[in-house]
Order: sequence, then structure tokens, then C-alpha cells
Amino acid sequence: MEENRRKMSSLQLCCFLLIGCLVSTIYASSGASSEEHAQEVHCSRERSRAAYNIIEEYLIPFVEQENYQMSHKCKLHPRNDIFRDQEDHKIHVDVNEWRCGYCKKSFRAEKFLDQHFDNRHYNLLNVSEGNCLAELCGALHCDHVINSVVPKSKCNPAAAARNRHLCESLADSCFPVHQGPSAGRLHELFLRQFCDAHTCSGRIKPFSRGGKKHTNIFYFAISILILMLLPIFYLIVYLYQREMRKGTQILRRISKQSLKKKPS
Ligand SMILES: [Zn+2]
Repeated sequence: MEENRRKMSSLQLCCFLLIGCLVSTIYASSGASSEEHAQEVHCSRERSRAAYNIIEEYLIPFVEQENYQMSHKCKLHPRNDIFRDQEDHKIHVDVNEWRCGYCKKSFRAEKFLDQHFDNRHYNLLNVSEGNCLAELCGALHCDHVINSVVPKSKCNPAAAARNRHLCESLADSCFPVHQGPSAGRLHELFLRQFCDAHTCSGRIKPFSRGGKKHTNIFYFAISILILMLLPIFYLIVYLYQREMRKGTQILRRISKQSLKKKPS
């Protein structure tokens, strides 16, 4: 009997231990998922998008021009964007229609599609450490792009120095000078394009080299405008000259008539 009781108590102990283990693993896994969610919440989608667009517009054209391959370790690499897969699955059908590329559901505005991604497809986020492009916003001047009219607030020299440091560390990690002439040139360009403007003097503006796509669109628009205005200009000149000719012919007729009348 005594032995049986001992056996029972050891069996109960085993059961308790097993249950304890199960509970702790479930708790740990739920903790991990909430941690993932916390990471997702902590990275701003809007600011990540702004950072991505800035990189695409003001850096990638020059990187492509140099035929340079950015390392995956470089935080500016498109792969290191937590939202990239979702953003690539946005279908902009019309001004008022955005479609989810995963489940084809339609939305009236981009922000509703963003909410849908957050609620339905958060499992597709590329969650890993250092994947939040929004964290680079200080270095990349996202506020300059998000608020087209930057409020004139007092410049904080400490914040400017911090952003400059972040900016320079990005230049060093993404374009190591010892890697060759292309990396050296891109390193220099990155400093001029993004880092020089991190001062409180306010004299230097970011993106000094401009965006390639932007200038192309600008020149395209200007040339179309000129092409449209040229015929109108020539038409005005032609009409003006015709009117002038008519005027001189009438004057000539009048003067001839007056000459004929004089002898009589
Ligand atoms: Zn969907």
C-alpha cells in the first residue's frame, strides 16, 4: 500500500511537471508573438514609406549609375524594410481604389489598405532586428518630405549632431571607402546629399543633387508645355502680321485715292 501511494505521488509529480512545462512553453510562445506585435507597432509604416521613397529617389539612381551592389547588412538596402512585401502588394487601381495584392479586397483609400494589412496580413511582415526603415528617418530628412512646409521650430544642436552621426555611420556601413572607387564616390555623394544638411546653420538643404526621376519628369513637363505653346505663339505672330499688312494696304489705298483726287 505504502509503495502504491509513493508510486501515485511520483506519478502526480510527473503530471504536475509536465503540465508546468506545457504552460510555460505556451506562455513563452505567446510572449514571443506579443513581442513581434510590439515590434510591428513600434515601427511607423508611414515614416518607413517616406524613408523608402527618399532612398529610391535620391540615392538608388546614383547607386545604379555606379553599378554598385549594396550589402544586405546596409540598413538602406530595400530588403531591410519590414513593410516591403506588403507595400509591393499594393495595387493602385484608380484614384479612389486600392487593392490588396494578397486577397484582392478593394479599399477607397491607401490608409484603409494599410489598416487591412495591419489586421489581416501582419504575419507577412519581415520582422527581424534592425528592419525598421523609419528609424533612419532622422538621418534621411523624412520630415522634410512628409511636411512639405517645415514648421520653423528652433533647431536643436544636439539632435542635429545625433542625426549627423547616424547619417555618417550609414555612409560608412553602406559604402565602405576601402571597397573601391565606386564605393568611395557613393560615400562622398551620401555625405553631400544627406549628412551635410544636419547643422543648425540652415544654409545647406538636403538632396543637393536632386532626384533623377524628379528632374526627368520636370523636363518632360516643360518640353510638353513648350511644344503646346509654340503653335499658339506662331498663330498670334501670324495673325498680328496679317492685321499689320491689312492696315498698310488700307493706308496705301487711302493715300492713292487722295493722290488721284489732288489734281482735280
Ligand atoms: Zn488582403
